[in-house]
Amino acid sequence: MIPSKFDYFAPASVAEAISLLQQHGDEAKLLAGGHSLLPAMKLRLATPSVLIDIGKIAELRGISVNGNVSMGALTTHHMVETSAALKSACAILPECAALIGDIQVRNLGTIGGALAHADPAADYPAVVLALDAQIHVQGPSGTRSVPVADFFTDMLTTALDPTEIITKIEAPKLGAGEGAAYVKFPHPASRYAIVGVAAYVKMDGGKVAAARIGITGAGPKAECQAKAEAAFVGSDGSAAAIAIAAEEAGTEMDVFGDIHAGEDYRRAMIKVYTRRALTQAVARAGG
Ligand SMILES: Cc1cc2nc3c(=O)[nH]c(=O)nc-3n(C[C@H](O)[C@H](O)[C@H](O)COP(=O)(O)OP(=O)(O)OC[C@H]3O[C@@H](n4cnc5c(N)ncnc54)[C@H](O)[C@@H]3O)c2cc1C
Repeated sequence: MIPSKFDYFAPASVAEAISLLQQHGDEAKLLAGGHSLLPAMKLRLATPSVLIDIGKIAELRGISVNGNVSMGALTTHHMVETSAALKSACAILPECAALIGDIQVRNLGTIGGALAHADPAADYPAVVLALDAQIHVQGPSGTRSVPVADFFTDMLTTALDPTEIITKIEAPKLGAGEGAAYVKFPHPASRYAIVGVAAYVKMDGGKVAAARIGITGAGPKAECQAKAEAAFVGSDGSAAAIAIAAEEAGTEMDVFGDIHAGEDYRRAMIKVYTRRALTQAVARAGG
């Protein structure tokens, strides 16, 4: 439980952090809330010889709501959970944050760290997929914005270059006719998702005009469910339509089994939780 030796840096700006990443290459790891990295280091699953603590970079922290919702990478789960602005603009985000771990984890863990770590059982990935969010990153050659659909590439792997830092996450402000919901079957000890489903629905004239369903916990990476979404769009959003769409959920993804839940059980839970998430999202959309 004792990590290997490392040098510690605490840069004051994103530019300084990027320059340290360039200087130390593969030896270096960014440290945000430390609630994924430090346990991995204590187990020697990660052995960086340089830690770059971005926790003091003020420009990475905070929430703003204008045309869109914007959350700095260092925004803690607790800040998301308790933000009145988010509750009114995009309530699925605080709803998701409130379900993460326990109060200690939520006080320190950050949204940027959670997305960069891309744990297959983490909660935010499903939600940002359903919201079709943008991940803003900064690296040596400037800034870029990655659509979340391209961000999670494999288990614990993202489209981030090793010298890039997530700076903020941008999601839409939900308006009239739009609703979103996140529901999960949590592991009873850690609260990580055994299966977590986020749904976004837009209703127009009594029909489903758009739908996105993000699933986490069930496979190597969080994924949208194109077949289930296609089955739902154009329907009347009724319980019968939800049941048809939920049957398609998980059919296109690799689903794994482990000591907590076998593959067949997870596949069954994907359908159950998709039904629940869609039902809530439609109700919130006024359908
Ligand atoms: C007991 C326990 C229970 C938990 N339960 C849950 C749960 O129910 N649901 C859930 O979703 N999560 C859960 N977590 C994980 C928690 O949410 C972590 O806080 C989160 O996954 C990582 O965020 P962090 O800020 O702690 O990142 P860190 O641990 O500091 O970093 C994680 C990784 O991301 C990189 N990184 C961090 N910030 C950035 C950035 N801005 N740009 C680029 N790379 C970056 C780091 O280099 C590192 O590789 C749990 C953790 C613990 C310890």
